Amino acid sequence: MNDVRAEAGASSGFVHATCAGCGQVNRLPARRLADDPTCGRCKQKVFPHRPVEVTGATWAREVDTSPLPVLADFWAPWCGPCHAVAPALERIAGRRASRLKVVKVNIDENPDLAARFGVRSIPTMVVLRRGREVDRMVGALPADEIDRRLARLGDG
Ligand SMILES: [Zn+2]
Repeated sequence: MNDVRAEAGASSGFVHATCAGCGQVNRLPARRLADDPTCGRCKQKVFPHRPVEVTGATWAREVDTSPLPVLADFWAPWCGPCHAVAPALERIAGRRASRLKVVKVNIDENPDLAARFGVRSIPTMVVLRRGREVDRMVGALPADEIDRRLARLGDG
């Protein structure tokens, strides 16, 4: 799927990113990540343009080692406001595809992750760099507000 791993020697300026389409591991200059790089094998975009479902089992490889900042949307199928904010997150995932990765965490199926991040109401959107929380938005914020908060991260 969308396995994106940082190379152990990140100081070399390269990261390893597994293609969202074909699974090929691409070695990319870190400074070129923002150019929405193309896979060397299938010629499609390396980074996903849509939100990616993650679980406790895939969190480490999808989030902790992602070379891109990650917006993790904690949600549940029965949550109306979660559905209300979902289209905005789809658009953000497309527009910021090579600058931000959007993942979705179903809290019913992953109560361990919800507990780990102290999620008390949903939707809660946690922004992480290298697995560390750098911002948090609680509630179904308007798309403009989410965009403003993400822009403050300095990645456009
Ligand atoms: Zn590919």
